[in-house]
Amino acid sequence: MVNYKKVLADRLSEAVRALFPGANCIKFKESDEGFYCDYDIPPLVPRTFEEIGKKMMASDIDCAFELHSYSGVYEDDNANNRVLQRIYVTAFPTVNELAEYKIFLKEASKRDHKILGSEMQIFSTANEIGQGLILWHPKGAMIRYLLESFGQKAHILNGYQWVYTPHIGRAELWKTSGHLEYYKDTMYNPIVIDDEEYYLKPMNCPFHINIYNSRIHSYRDLPVKYAEYGTVYRYELSGTLNGLTRVRGFTQDDAHIFCTPEQVEKEVADALEFSLYMLRSFGLEKFQAYVSTRPGNKSIGDDKDWEMATEVLKKAVVAAGLDYRIDEGGGAFYGPKIDIKLFDSLNREWQCSTIQFDFNLPARFNVFYIGSDGRRHTPYMIHRALFGSLERFMALLIEHYKGDFPFWLAPVQFGIVPIRENHNEYAKQISGRLKEQGFRVEVNCEDVNMKNKIKNFQLEKVPYILVVGDREAENNTFAVRSRKDGDLGTMDLPALIEYLKPQIEQGIPRCII
Ligand SMILES: [Zn+2]
Repeated sequence: MVNYKKVLADRLSEAVRALFPGANCIKFKESDEGFYCDYDIPPLVPRTFEEIGKKMMASDIDCAFELHSYSGVYEDDNANNRVLQRIYVTAFPTVNELAEYKIFLKEASKRDHKILGSEMQIFSTANEIGQGLILWHPKGAMIRYLLESFGQKAHILNGYQWVYTPHIGRAELWKTSGHLEYYKDTMYNPIVIDDEEYYLKPMNCPFHINIYNSRIHSYRDLPVKYAEYGTVYRYELSGTLNGLTRVRGFTQDDAHIFCTPEQVEKEVADALEFSLYMLRSFGLEKFQAYVSTRPGNKSIGDDKDWEMATEVLKKAVVAAGLDYRIDEGGGAFYGPKIDIKLFDSLNREWQCSTIQFDFNLPARFNVFYIGSDGRRHTPYMIHRALFGSLERFMALLIEHYKGDFPFWLAPVQFGIVPIRENHNEYAKQISGRLKEQGFRVEVNCEDVNMKNKIKNFQLEKVPYILVVGDREAENNTFAVRSRKDGDLGTMDLPALIEYLKPQIEQGIPRCII
């Protein structure tokens, strides 16, 4: 069968050449929804882009396509190279499939976390602050706080010890860890303090290792599991920065597990089980696991360790009831890993959790424990992050829920609407009583009509609106409107709390290991 995307790409090149004689497609790449081509031509503007589209329309190819967009990109993603013009084309075999895809795009754009993030006062970035650096606004900070506290409690309940570590560390540390040798391109320039160089941390591992090494561990103390919300800084090209998904400073829900060879199988299985529990707590249900194996060149550690570790990872994935795909040679140079990709409500794939073996750092930092034989042994070290980066996970949640956060994560859970001014006092009383129960409440006592107050809370996607008037004040009740289920009638506080019980419980972490 003829590859219609390639045929289309040829037609696109002809259309580009009609405007820019001699232009050739330097790079062609296919995707599920079409392809792109890169050209070494002057920067495109809407007019030239449109003209290319018109010239292409004139051709007769048996498929459905549309010129999607264009952008300037560095050749080979390298900022030292020339800038090329990339043209994206959406293409499908039939008109119906193209139409379906356009409906999907429309739905996705309604969920765009950058648009919702600004409408819902969740986050912003600012030129004055710097690119790729996130400002969390009160509503977003509240959601993040709830997410963090759920995660922190869940970690502690499930055998992790919480730690905090600094944002910078001496050059010496990063030399020992190998980061300055292998990872320098993503690190920022050093800060000089007292004639010594310090670097912003790109990873948390050396700090956790240092805590482990601060005392001697016997095999009886293992496993040791340190967890932290570690904020790291990594250089990303300015052209690739995007909302919360690609930033220059972000916070990982990071943890490091130190264990004996006998414990390693259970520890990996537990880490995976815990990771799925956490993701499911946020309404995510569909996952795909990838097991990445030893890269061909330049990896360290002996074959036996790699084989054992890869088997342990595969076994854990199967035990967790997941299918896995093998990413042949896709492991890091220091060890194999599991990556969990998950699917959101639009069936889009997101990379979140990762569980990685490390055969490198324990040796570099002389990490050891005293075995039952009284001798020193090197423990297995496992890096793992569940949400990945909190920033990216928030982007995923915003788009997955379309801004409609579940009750336990909603920054404002109740909006109270007094019907008239003389009901303001009672509205405030109700608010106070709900707050005492730990709920997040806003009262709208403004001098506007009731319908507008309700509408404002609806726009803010507040899950429950409580309306209070004469009758309610008299009977110590309120009229409840649920965002999802509409009018729920009149209730008093105990009845409301009883009704909400299952939703409240969703936000209470459990011990699962
Ligand atoms: Zn690590």
